[in-house]
Amino acid sequence: MSQAAPPTGSVDQICDADLTSLNTLRLPARAHRLARPTTLDALSQVLAERNPAEPLFVIGEGSNLVIRSDLPGLTLSLAIDGMAQVKEDDTHVWVAAGAGVHWDDLVDWTVEQGWQGLENLSLIPGTAGAAPFQNIGAYGVELSQVLEQVTVMDVVTAQVDHFAGHECEFSYRDSRFKSRDRGRYIITGIELRLNKTPQCNVSYGPLKARFGHLSQADISPAAVREHVIAVRQSKLPDPAVLANAGSFFKNPVVTKEQGDALKVRFADLVAYAQADGVKLAAGWLIEQAGWKGKRLGPVGMHSEQALVLVNHGAATSADVVALAEAVRADVQATFGVSLEQEPVLLP
Ligand SMILES: Cc1cc2nc3c(=O)[nH]c(=O)nc-3n(C[C@H](O)[C@H](O)[C@H](O)COP(=O)(O)OP(=O)(O)OC[C@H]3O[C@@H](n4cnc5c(N)ncnc54)[C@H](O)[C@@H]3O)c2cc1C
Repeated sequence: MSQAAPPTGSVDQICDADLTSLNTLRLPARAHRLARPTTLDALSQVLAERNPAEPLFVIGEGSNLVIRSDLPGLTLSLAIDGMAQVKEDDTHVWVAAGAGVHWDDLVDWTVEQGWQGLENLSLIPGTAGAAPFQNIGAYGVELSQVLEQVTVMDVVTAQVDHFAGHECEFSYRDSRFKSRDRGRYIITGIELRLNKTPQCNVSYGPLKARFGHLSQADISPAAVREHVIAVRQSKLPDPAVLANAGSFFKNPVVTKEQGDALKVRFADLVAYAQADGVKLAAGWLIEQAGWKGKRLGPVGMHSEQALVLVNHGAATSADVVALAEAVRADVQATFGVSLEQEPVLLP
């Protein structure tokens, strides 16, 4: 009788783990049990040993989370590493990365190779595994534009599956993993298709201002990355210095009629035409509602970027929720527009 091969990889497990440094808002919380599997084998072993009745959470680097209280049951933080070119043709390369890879390391490595596609997504915090969850986007580019496939593990059966990009149901800051299949799959890896000959997207404001006058042949992914990093560092607070979870609200999309009516009342409304209506700049709405740089207890909306909720120190999740509700209520009262929170609430 043949013996099954022992599982490869390992799992770091910590009981009663402190999550304060594992979420960029620095909210105090603990995980009943935190496991960090390094391979698919190790992950399936953790799932097999888990009591199916116990709650399960997956976190990456905690840069898009509001942790409301201690997490019961099992919390997984994948440590599946590795990035590599998996194939190429005359015009493209395909690149795979494990879910635990730090996103910006992946961007940096691909840009260094001269491959184009990720440069606009430079310096977004978090892991490669979390990137498809909300279809990360910045400076006119979304992950969905370069994503070839996502590898997942079913939390109940531990079966490994692949979803092609078009099967991930991506939309603005959304995917099937965040919506209808929430909690069903753990994303274990991603594969991206990048261009060998750069065709950089510099249509977005600050990039257009810097590169708009140049021909494509004179715009390198490295130069775009460098500029994106400089702009982000000048506008966004570094979570290592001032705790935050990035944009706290999504940019709301309203009907064209509502957008037109708002434009009549607010001549300098920041709005972008979309196929399904008009996208409004949430940061502008919050600033106009008087919240830019304003504090409520230990939390506040950032003084340079009103869309970013910051923890000035020792905040609890109740402080965050209270401020978010106050901002939402004022924007609703001023503009009749409902703001939707971007960071995920756990548990
Ligand atoms: C300063 C700052 C700037 C930011 N700028 C941007 C930006 O420009 N654009 C943008 O889109 N986002 C931005 N974000 C948000 C954040 O960086 C992204 O959402 C990022 O993808 C989150 O990665 P994470 O590893 O920290 O995930 P976490 O915050 O730990 O988790 C986020 C969600 O993803 C789920 N998840 C995480 N890993 C997995 C996995 N392997 N399988 C299944 N589900 C998983 C979690 O359950 C949770 O629901 C910013 C955040 C900060 C703090």
